[in-house]
Amino acid sequence: MPRLSCKLAIVTGAARGIGLAIARHFRDEGCEVVLTDIDTENGQHEADALSFRFISLDVRSENDWATLATLCPSPDIVVNNAGITGFENGLVAHDPEHATLADWHAVHRTNLDGTFLGCRYALHGMKTRGTGAIINISSRSGLVGIPGAAAYASSKAAIRNHTKSVALYAAQKGWAIRCNSVHPAAILTPMWEAMLGNGPEREARMKDLVADTPLKRFGTVDEVAAICVMLASDEATYITGSEFSIDGGLLAGSAAQPG
Ligand code: NDP
Repeated sequence: MPRLSCKLAIVTGAARGIGLAIARHFRDEGCEVVLTDIDTENGQHEADALSFRFISLDVRSENDWATLATLCPSPDIVVNNAGITGFENGLVAHDPEHATLADWHAVHRTNLDGTFLGCRYALHGMKTRGTGAIINISSRSGLVGIPGAAAYASSKAAIRNHTKSVALYAAQKGWAIRCNSVHPAAILTPMWEAMLGNGPEREARMKDLVADTPLKRFGTVDEVAAICVMLASDEATYITGSEFSIDGGLLAGSAAQPG
């Protein structure tokens, strides 16, 4: 039996990377998915390829969420996946001493405000039926400090916490609307491309970036999508307010050995 049959899912940031993989895995489990993204061209292209609907949605825009609510008023699953690092237009200072307030706000607006609006949309849409699953894509960076990417880490930590507030609020209301966060570490997506480059040094850079990861490799988008399928499905009806690391063992502890 498909694990998500007869369900409707909204995925943000679904034009590529992790969001697109989630849409594909949900489809494979019998789910209807509405792909949304700020990147209308790729989003429409990928939605066409999957025979799904695409709706342009900038997660920072209250108006866009209101429009989505009129077009898709009662989703079963909402995945708040869209996110930025702050380095999309090149390397800028994101450490606590030099980051500008504008850069700090820009990261929080997409990652945190976008997730807040997505959760609010989901609660409004799911409460009449009284069931649903909200999945917020946080990060390993939401569980530890990241000196060179302080706004990203702060926004992802706030997503982790807001997930728990949403979960408890829904439970208090007596709704079976679950809300959980997923915390990937390095997952190979276009987000990394600017840093990795295409030259001969690409392999060495990749190795360096996962040198501290016990499994010594990047994770894949399929590995993240797999846990989202489980959290969206009725296998997870007793899981809410929880956080799921998917990090190749990075947060498990130190590798220090005696001697
Ligand atoms: P990508 O950059 O590959 O894809 C993100 C997508 O979101 C892009 O299509 C992007 O469009 C879109 N997007 C950006 N801003 C907005 C916005 N305001 N509204 C709607 N869509 C937007 O990212 P990943 O797939 O790598 O990451 C997905 C999520 O996973 C993010 O939240 C990220 O922080 C998180 N994550 C990723 C990790 C990784 O190693 N890849 C690790 C930990 C967490 P455009 O290209 O036009 O900007």
